[in-house]
Amino acid sequence: MTDSVADSVSAYLGYWQAAGVAAGVAEAGTDWFALQKRSATAAIAAPPAARAVNTVREPAPAKPAPRATAPAAPPPISPAALAHVAKASSLDELLALLSVFEGCGLKATAKNLCFYRGAPQARLMLIGEAPGRDEDLEGKPFVGRAGQLLDKMLAAIGIDEIKVHIANTVYWRPPGNRTPSPEETISCAPFLNRQIELVAPDVVVLLGGVAAKSVLGLTEGIIKLRGKWRGLAIGGREVKALATLHPAYLLRTPAAKRQAWQDLLLIEQALAG
Ligand code: URA
Repeated sequence: MTDSVADSVSAYLGYWQAAGVAAGVAEAGTDWFALQKRSATAAIAAPPAARAVNTVREPAPAKPAPRATAPAAPPPISPAALAHVAKASSLDELLALLSVFEGCGLKATAKNLCFYRGAPQARLMLIGEAPGRDEDLEGKPFVGRAGQLLDKMLAAIGIDEIKVHIANTVYWRPPGNRTPSPEETISCAPFLNRQIELVAPDVVVLLGGVAAKSVLGLTEGIIKLRGKWRGLAIGGREVKALATLHPAYLLRTPAAKRQAWQDLLLIEQALAG
């Protein structure tokens, strides 16, 4: 770790330590940005039974306890901590900050952090939904069956790992491969935004509806969203962004490969231009 990365990480950790936090685990993801807006009194007033943080499990009650809606810890990410993320000067520094980040509940159940696969800087950046089982074991995005199909699709337009940067909307595997919640994607978004800035791609491709919705802020389904160029303002410049079908969907629905092929040709053209 370089000195500047170490300084940045230690300033970032200082915030959590000052708040008395050693670890924070919640069953559901938490929108720290929304919580930040609530009054401190309201957060403190939450009854202990409603907190799902590192508690020892009692024998199953006759009636299920109500699900936690606003876990008390960790505290909202501070503006100072966010500023460190926004100013991370390299992917190594961003990874160091991510590895001490406790604001995404998925970290508690995942085996490994999945940062990226491929080139650190690339003209093409792909963003998927979330790591699955194989990715969690290996600590890299898209290394399972969907990743193998993705690699074949990219090879068809002359792209290999040296020419692409592959990431996800969240950095940890959701339990049981469930869809990451909006709170979980929101908690990882400052890191992903900085990652896009540092990779500095010309073209960003969103693989599937979750990535398209969380990165582009759109609400329609992927079938409507796919295949159209959009502008994505990142780091003071506009990047071309395209939503397409997720390779896992293509494995389940081979007939949809036709549309995916049309999108691949759009990507090839954009990179040629
Ligand atoms: N699906 C994703 O969205 N991301 C991965 O890394 C693997 C499968």
